Amino acid sequence: MKVEILFNDQAINSTFSDGCGFSCLVNNHILFDTGGNPESLFNNIKIMGINITGIEAIVISHDHWDHTEGLWEILKIKKGLKIYACPHFSQKFKDKVKALRGILIEQDKPEEITRGIFVTGEISGVYKGESMPEQSLVVRTERGFSVITGCSHPGIINILEKVKSFFSLQEFYSVFGGFHLHDKNENDINNIVVKFKEMNVEKAGPTHCSGKTTEEIFAKKYMNNFISVRVGQILNI
Ligand SMILES: [Zn+2]
Ligand SMILES: [Zn+2]
Repeated sequence: MKVEILFNDQAINSTFSDGCGFSCLVNNHILFDTGGNPESLFNNIKIMGINITGIEAIVISHDHWDHTEGLWEILKIKKGLKIYACPHFSQKFKDKVKALRGILIEQDKPEEITRGIFVTGEISGVYKGESMPEQSLVVRTERGFSVITGCSHPGIINILEKVKSFFSLQEFYSVFGGFHLHDKNENDINNIVVKFKEMNVEKAGPTHCSGKTTEEIFAKKYMNNFISVRVGQILNI
């Protein structure tokens, strides 16, 4: 299955716009997160030749601006889009989706939203001492299961353990997105890599809020199986 990276702080070349936030398009029709700047997002969408009207649903990982800012402009272009959110997102977020005539779906448990693509539903997390519920995307293909994360405020290992137990998995094909480890030291990050290996994660792509040290450590440990996530890239999972 094809995953196109549409928003991140690194790009494959300078024609793309980079910035704080994350967004990717899965299998041409499911958009996961919408980045932190609509102009940049639309520039990248245009260069990649993506037709916004082909998007059938948008999954928002969590209620942080760098994942939601593009959403409002997309909703102005395409009415009646299904927006998968978590029940404990802010009322402001929910009201805005409804005002722009999006169909708000509040997901409290895992569900297959289209063939082979699942949301985890809400997993409770914390950001700067405050509650920050979040969901991840799970993709099942002939290669195995992959998990795409927004910021991983519930903790990347916690998320993977939940996915592993829900789907009774022995291994993951790939895990990429924000792991939120930028404030962790090398020892903590090494321990996370050990847990990834114990959970048989074949390919890993920490990016966004994962931090530079995390990317370097994962790159060293995963070698050819490290995914360098950049805008403009098309991953096959
Ligand atoms: Zn973020
Ligand atoms: Zn966040």
